[in-house]
Amino acid sequence: MAAAEESLVPLFDVVLSDEAIGAVEDTLRSGWLTLGPRTKAFEEAFAEHLGARHAIALSSCTAGLHLAYLAAGVGPGDEVIVPAITFVATANAARYCGAKPVLADILGPHDVGVDPADVEARITPRTKAVCAVHFAGYGADMKALRDVCDRHGIALIEDVAHAPSATLAGFDTKLGTLGLAGAFSFFSNKVLSCGEGGLLATDDDGVAEQVRSLRSHAMTSGTWDRHRGHSAGYDVVGLGYNYRMDEPRAALLTARLATLEDEIAQRRAHVRRYRELLAGIDGITVPYRDDEVERSSCYVMPIMVDEPGLRDPLRAFMLEQRRIQTSVLYPAIHEFTAYLSDSHGDLPRSERAARSELTLPLFPHLSEADQDRVVAALADGLAEVAPQPVPAERSEAR
Ligand SMILES: *Cc1c(COP(=O)(O)O)cnc(C)c1O
Repeated sequence: MAAAEESLVPLFDVVLSDEAIGAVEDTLRSGWLTLGPRTKAFEEAFAEHLGARHAIALSSCTAGLHLAYLAAGVGPGDEVIVPAITFVATANAARYCGAKPVLADILGPHDVGVDPADVEARITPRTKAVCAVHFAGYGADMKALRDVCDRHGIALIEDVAHAPSATLAGFDTKLGTLGLAGAFSFFSNKVLSCGEGGLLATDDDGVAEQVRSLRSHAMTSGTWDRHRGHSAGYDVVGLGYNYRMDEPRAALLTARLATLEDEIAQRRAHVRRYRELLAGIDGITVPYRDDEVERSSCYVMPIMVDEPGLRDPLRAFMLEQRRIQTSVLYPAIHEFTAYLSDSHGDLPRSERAARSELTLPLFPHLSEADQDRVVAALADGLAEVAPQPVPAERSEAR
């Protein structure tokens, strides 16, 4: 078939059930639009699903990271260690606190999680927290990171944006419950999504109380309490934010939570099939091990192109010749303009990943035929395209 006649295989696609849409419609008809009974119901359902003491719905995961860092005591002049390969929010939230995000290297092409040894090497007297990112839904090495953080007396935060319902070998509870606090994202392309939204999970009563307060301008009561006559007035007891979630989104999330495990099971089946099909293709590395797929939420399907110069021409070939969308997760943080002014030390494995990573289409209703098209396009592209120069890596290889 000619390229123009083929339909696009999107990187990601969302399909909402009639139940989910109906839940939003009911909410709109209820006349109560923000922070009310549906938000509370979602928080209770998510806390139970996770096995966490507290789940606090927020406007975004970025808000959750900001409040988690504040709860860890991060302030001006402090440092927060985050991986160099993550969405920029993980680092930006440290800057919101007036702190410096210190970037640590990832383990390598087989595991994009942060390297605990490199984290430890970057600890200074100003380090207040470490944030682990569970890349693509695969748990970071929380055992080693906990050990490092405990020895140095610093807080361990989880960026769980990719990994709702994921687990890790050696731990009984889900990701997002393994540190002081876990920040989840419900952004439209995430595993559980509502458009814009987030949540902070914690087992710490003090952290939960602080986050509930800061979510809504550190006011001593909310409008829902006042509406129900529980409280006449309010005081403002600190500098808080408007990080509230609204009711239609909470209703959508509660409805979608019911099918989350099924959707993750579909994602895992696609990932297992990808791994089988990709095993026969030379010139790429597929991160993570087969046995880790069962514990992952399988947010995205990352691969590493062994020759970085082929990555961008390959992406162009797949889109233009075969109508396959791909993306890059992620450019390295220290190579963004806004981060060039900080000093970062060497981050060679992150720079290599930023030049070689390519993310293939993955969503629950991806068809086998489309998956076959993706794999064929990748194999043909690797055989056809010529390498292009890539930006020089800045770090000494280690
Ligand atoms: C999406 C994402 C975020 C930010 O989530 P928002 O809900 O959009 O604020 C943070 N960290 C990672 C790793 C992400 O992928």
